Amino acid sequence: MSLKKARDIVGGAGRIARQLAPFQYTISPMLDSTQMQTLRDAVYRAAGTAQVREAVADFYRQVRADVDIRRPVCNASGRCCRFEEFDHRLFVTTIELAAFVYELEMRSWPAENESARAKWTGGGCPFQVAGLCGVHPIRPFGCRIFFCDPGSGPWQQEQYERRHSQLKAMHQALGVPYFYVEWRQGLAAMGITPPSLSRT
Ligand code: SF4
Repeated sequence: MSLKKARDIVGGAGRIARQLAPFQYTISPMLDSTQMQTLRDAVYRAAGTAQVREAVADFYRQVRADVDIRRPVCNASGRCCRFEEFDHRLFVTTIELAAFVYELEMRSWPAENESARAKWTGGGCPFQVAGLCGVHPIRPFGCRIFFCDPGSGPWQQEQYERRHSQLKAMHQALGVPYFYVEWRQGLAAMGITPPSLSRT
């Protein structure tokens, strides 16, 4: 698939993409505008590559297998998605972002998702809907390995580090530039920003 086609599919002319927005979060290290553009190009290119998408899907299957064995408790509190309130951050890599934006654009989503996005002011995750994940099948790795089960903390840490190293190696194997960015910054690079802060 060509880069142009990938751009079309993941929203260059579609629902989710807007011009690169000026919105920035107080995340360190911040990407400058050139880096944001480089990230965006890398994500578009990776999103248009079936090999990348399949590798990420297989990676998520492996993560799921680990979780199914350990079975940490999830009480569906939704707190893992309210970053400021619970003082944590979600970070993503280039290929996770690529798989996410591709699936976000290609699948049908409930109207409630759009409503939540329209009300988003920049705090928490824009995909949380009524306390639950509105994009559960395509959520990034960090969401799949985070549990509020205090007894599984060391396991989560070990899993995160091991699997993140795997993700990093996958970038090299797939020829995709490696970025590791805060979730909202990655979304902003792809034109997904709070509506009030988006350019028209
Ligand atoms: S993608 Fe889903 S699980 Fe992850 S932070 Fe957003 S709402 Fe929460």
